[in-house]
Amino acid sequence: EAVSSGLVPLIHQAAGHDGALTLADGSLFIKPTTQQEVDFYTQTQAYDAQPRTSSNGAESDRDMDLPGSKLIDWIPICIGTLTHDTGNTTTATETEDKANENEKEYIVLQNLYHGFKYPSILDIKLGSKLTDDEVTAPEKIARLQKVSDSTTSGSLNFRICGMKLYIGDSSDKPEFELYPEMNSNSVYVISDEKGDNYLAFNKFFGRSLNKDNAKDGILLFFTQHLGKIETYGNKMVLRLLEVTSKRLQILYNCLLDYEVRIYSGSLLFIYENDLTRWGVSNRINEEDNIFNNDELYEAVDPLIREPVVEVDSDEEDEDEDEGTDSPGSKLTPLSSLNVIDFAHAKYVSGKGYDENIIKGIENLIDIFDSLIKEISSKI
Ligand code: ADP
Ligand code: MN
Repeated sequence: EAVSSGLVPLIHQAAGHDGALTLADGSLFIKPTTQQEVDFYTQTQAYDAQPRTSSNGAESDRDMDLPGSKLIDWIPICIGTLTHDTGNTTTATETEDKANENEKEYIVLQNLYHGFKYPSILDIKLGSKLTDDEVTAPEKIARLQKVSDSTTSGSLNFRICGMKLYIGDSSDKPEFELYPEMNSNSVYVISDEKGDNYLAFNKFFGRSLNKDNAKDGILLFFTQHLGKIETYGNKMVLRLLEVTSKRLQILYNCLLDYEVRIYSGSLLFIYENDLTRWGVSNRINEEDNIFNNDELYEAVDPLIREPVVEVDSDEEDEDEDEGTDSPGSKLTPLSSLNVIDFAHAKYVSGKGYDENIIKGIENLIDIFDSLIKEISSKI
């Protein structure tokens, strides 16, 4: 419950360590951090603030102003850091002189699911090499290499790390007969205080997948609830798959221009399950629906940000009007893709792009393309 600082435990989390916090209004994500992660955010902010053309000679005519061409476009906004003892916030650049070994340091980021009413969240860890051998203890290198070798981290350079899916008032688990090799014991139903249910998949779910059925795990993320909606389910799923695939391609191109090593970093996928925000709830039989309305899809920058659906502001929500009043709420997309977790990330000037994570994104693009074909054929 609320502590005196105004910080409360994070509500939705797909994977990772416990201990993340949020502000009562849900706008910030605050998690224990390391100096390396703070440094990576600081360096990315500084690097991307410089006007420049591509660092890669062969592609130097690429327009770095296009949305999605900079790493800063893909990472959560970093507000600063705070130490548990004092509760003082400082800007990220000030932290070096304030480092105190005894205080627990937190990083304050934009909460990426803020503004989503019923978010589904997927964390996919990138890379087959999960540790930085220059700094990691040999025992940990060996342990994580073993995990990689026995999972899709090794075969596909990505692994589903965890996911949390909105399932409304249902408490159905996926039909695991369809996916016999998936670990159905690592799925739990969680109910929030409003009576909405979510399915949480822990790390053993993703570890049980192999290179052939990893794509079923990803499809499950998009279809378990939304895909079952009458008439529009598959269309919404297709829309999400297409937008996500485009985002992955833009991110791929972006990362080719960065000389970084992001060990154990993740892609965080989020989408909205609130049908009102999709614009289909009350007009399921109307012809003039969102899927025929191209204007909605042209809003903002369509490749990075999903079409913006305006939240109907005179709709009287009972007592949960969170998001609808705040100035940024109209810009909440229907889905998003971000790169997160830079606890083991660094810049490596002169050493080229991060092949380890690029390969994972390449494999994900292939999988999304095949899922797009699969869902298209059902419409
Ligand atoms: P770690 O793995 O070290 O615990 P991560 O940065 O990977 O930390 O975050 C763990 C989880 O927290 C992610 O799986 C995601 O669900 C959630 N998360 C991370 N960053 C954000 C953010 N900026 N906004 C909302 N949720 C986040
Ligand atoms: Mn993580």
